[in-house]
Amino acid sequence: MTLLEIKKYPDPVLKEQSVEVVTFDDELGKLLDNMLETMYASNGVGLAAPQVGILKRIAVVDVSREGTNPLVFINPEIIAKAGKVKSEEGCLSIPDYRDTIYRSATVTVRAVDRKGKKFEVEAEELFSMCLQHEIDHLDGILFTDRLSRLKRELFKRWFLKQQQENG
Ligand code: ZN
Repeated sequence: MTLLEIKKYPDPVLKEQSVEVVTFDDELGKLLDNMLETMYASNGVGLAAPQVGILKRIAVVDVSREGTNPLVFINPEIIAKAGKVKSEEGCLSIPDYRDTIYRSATVTVRAVDRKGKKFEVEAEELFSMCLQHEIDHLDGILFTDRLSRLKRELFKRWFLKQQQENG
């Protein structure tokens, strides 16, 4: 397996729309395994394909914290949602930044697995937040895009300051 390079904000690939997966072959399987390994190596609970520069509708998730429940969501769709909760989030593409946004409390997601077989999950709490976060990536949306206008300005200032300090 291979560790993939995680694209960092403000890489323009993170703003792109991803396309549906139509071919379920060995190459896809390899990509999924590499994405999972990259996610675990970065201590993430989710990773979307655009974050490794691949504009396909794929997300991998493991909210078990022990790395024991790797899940693959291909062509995922939120088919039902309910409630509204605060969600404190970070993103592997925006290292060292965390902030609080609003998300739906529960979501039902329909997707296909690595073999192309359909399945549905109902998710709540961290699993729900994570799925909404990763599915956003497939539409070019970062969690910072969901901040209030004021907080988004603060984020931009934080980012510029960080760039100056590191540059
Ligand atoms: Zn993210």
